[in-house]
Amino acid sequence: MASEARPPLSAEGQWRPPAVGRAKAASLTISQDATVVAADRDSGAVLASAPFASLTISDRVGSIPRTVTFPDGSVFETSDNDTIDNMVRPRGKRHFGFVHGLEKFHPRLILFAALVVAFCFVLYRFAVPVLVEVAVAVTPPVVPKLLSQGALVSLDQTFFEETKLSIERQKALSDQFAAMAKLTLRGSAAPASPEDAPAYTLNFRAGGTIGPNAFALPDGTVVLTDELVELADDDEMVLAVLAHEIGHVERQHSLRQLYRAAGVTALIMLIGGDIGSGTGDILVQGSALASLSYSRGAEAEADRYSVELMHKVGHDPAAIARFFELLRDKLGDTGKNDFLSSHPATPERIEETRRYAEEISNPGK
Ligand SMILES: [Zn+2]
Repeated sequence: MASEARPPLSAEGQWRPPAVGRAKAASLTISQDATVVAADRDSGAVLASAPFASLTISDRVGSIPRTVTFPDGSVFETSDNDTIDNMVRPRGKRHFGFVHGLEKFHPRLILFAALVVAFCFVLYRFAVPVLVEVAVAVTPPVVPKLLSQGALVSLDQTFFEETKLSIERQKALSDQFAAMAKLTLRGSAAPASPEDAPAYTLNFRAGGTIGPNAFALPDGTVVLTDELVELADDDEMVLAVLAHEIGHVERQHSLRQLYRAAGVTALIMLIGGDIGSGTGDILVQGSALASLSYSRGAEAEADRYSVELMHKVGHDPAAIARFFELLRDKLGDTGKNDFLSSHPATPERIEETRRYAEEISNPGK
């Protein structure tokens, strides 16, 4: 500010001649015409003199002494940083080092720290989906096979009992399931070679506490409970549910879900080919696979898949919609049912599958 008294631009320090020589106590002053003079403190004799613009002034770093180097090579050194700053500032030399700036302006330091945190968050938020995709892509086909076998064994030990469906009933459903599996609609996640394709098998079980349910393991092992077969009004509904499960397998939903749950560290280890003990546990635990619930997007994708596949095989494409309506009407909001809790029969879901079935049956309209 103009009214503020200017501090005297004179700094006390030491002056060293260009060649070898003793340092002298000196003072540094700047005149109106920006001539900088280093003078002997005792005698007042001029030791060095040069225009401000010709000087080299060291950056300010904390309280480390500053050096002012004259064109003749002599050096004035001082701890009076403030006076040097006052000489430099109005003359626009860029002698305020970045390091000093950070030290002096703490708000800027806080902002910097906040930016680092924000960057890490963004990285995490967007890196996980990418890592999941990479992990799915590099997963050798043997992994889903091992996973699925382990899962079925542990589920059999924990929940399931032998099916009570007749052999004829099982065969009828198995044949129709096989016909659908043969016509699976390959998506973008299609395996490169036929050997890598999921080998679909339909397994009948009495659901026990799991009740009416159907689920698919990543290798194509599909499990169907007696209770679901009994709940359905007709076989079309059962097939629609199975088509939905095939959709989850084809789109690799369970592998993705599993990897998402595994976390960043595990994913990096997986991609690096080093399955650590923690990751190993997650992968071996069958219950982890069975307890996964898919995202809303994955469910919608599997629903559409069911409509498409049912239509392709020549069954009722609206059967999945009818099944959701049945769930809604028969089970209401009791929420006791596992298939219902992981596959909520929401009005939007019913409406969307109905609409899509209509569209696929009458493509012209
Ligand atoms: Zn589903």
